[in-house]
Amino acid sequence: MNQPLLAGIAFLLLIGSPFSQAKLNGDFTGYKVYRLTIGSQRQLDLLNRINDDVEHNALTDEVDFWTDIPRRYAPEREQSALIMICPAKQALYLSAFDSESIQYETTITDVATAIEEQSRLAPQDIRAVESGGMTWTAYHRYSTMVSWMHSLRESYPDLVQEMKSIGQSYEGRDLYRLKIGKARADGKTKPAIWMDAHIHAREWIAGATLTYMVNKMVTEYASNSTSRRMLDEIDWYIVPTVNPDGYEWTHTNNRMWRKTRRLNPFSVDIGCDANRNMDHKWMVSGATQTASTETYAGPFPYSEVENIYVTEQLLNLRPQVKSMISIHSAAQMWLLPWGYAFERPADYEDIRRAGQAAVDALTAVYGIRYVVGTVPDLLYEAAGGTLDWAKAKGGVKYTFTPELRDQGFGFLLPPNQIIPSGVETFEAINVIAQIVAREFNPTLN
Ligand SMILES: [Zn+2]
Repeated sequence: MNQPLLAGIAFLLLIGSPFSQAKLNGDFTGYKVYRLTIGSQRQLDLLNRINDDVEHNALTDEVDFWTDIPRRYAPEREQSALIMICPAKQALYLSAFDSESIQYETTITDVATAIEEQSRLAPQDIRAVESGGMTWTAYHRYSTMVSWMHSLRESYPDLVQEMKSIGQSYEGRDLYRLKIGKARADGKTKPAIWMDAHIHAREWIAGATLTYMVNKMVTEYASNSTSRRMLDEIDWYIVPTVNPDGYEWTHTNNRMWRKTRRLNPFSVDIGCDANRNMDHKWMVSGATQTASTETYAGPFPYSEVENIYVTEQLLNLRPQVKSMISIHSAAQMWLLPWGYAFERPADYEDIRRAGQAAVDALTAVYGIRYVVGTVPDLLYEAAGGTLDWAKAKGGVKYTFTPELRDQGFGFLLPPNQIIPSGVETFEAINVIAQIVAREFNPTLN
């Protein structure tokens, strides 16, 4: 890339205001999303420089990478990235991409319209909500998810054994956890799998997919042998939304909000990345101490009360929980520990095999391809996440971070893809359930 152009970009990035319109009122009119195809280390380096600039100067209201940018070019697999750019900066960035011959295509022509379409409820969705239920043809508010949990518990009391609040979020919302499974006749304890979603608020498909899978297990227990085996062999602890404050904010104020909503002392910037805030190798890599950035790790480990409650639960449930699956979107990856460094747990091969088997089952449904690997292998080192904490301190063997399908839409995956996402992810989770049952529940074999 020529030097004057690079200097020009750097200058324009620096003069961007961190408090421009979109950040304040969530108006994304004219914003576009592009899919960039990465074909060389040079191209990747340019994207990383832009990403670092954006992070450093808190410009995510103007330019926002929707996919994490890997540090290392991997010719053996397709690498691409989604980037959202505000109207005023589109020409500038596209010319930068051109200068490095980065191929791009527009996947969302107007982000505001896509948000509106994604948030729409059809009459049958509204009817379901009004009667205390939920649908998987629309994305729903936290209160709807809570009502649905209550009604599931009332309708299937022998399968939904428990619905309890494990604590309250910073803004006072109950963090509800379901325990589902069929109690064994002999009263023995079964191995358990923990699943949660929405630690990153804007990743709507994560919670929608999770609740779809729970609904399928419970409501099809009598008719579907897979659902039945999953509930017979495993106890499931489910927290559909671990960051309800952030999730609600994405519905009411800013669709692209990622973090929690806690006030930071001495700062106008709100919240932190709760998935950098766990107390294992906190701040060792891939996180910042700048409150305006998307990967701000918080002022100290566990500064986020939601993280305290989740980790408390996992410690209480130790050693029953054998797998923890914290669902994210959207990169079509099945991430494995460790996240904090290029190191592997001693039982890595077991974890990798399980992850690969899960992804194979997922891909077999609709052909959606995922890559499997540790966070640094596929992206970059990132410390303080659930994945590492659950493995290192929660005593959980199989910890995974699935990054669900994006299909060029990223966080704005249309609601008509919720059920396909649920169907394919259900197959992956079933594989994990079988592995856990085989390994930790020998009496059932
Ligand atoms: Zn995420």
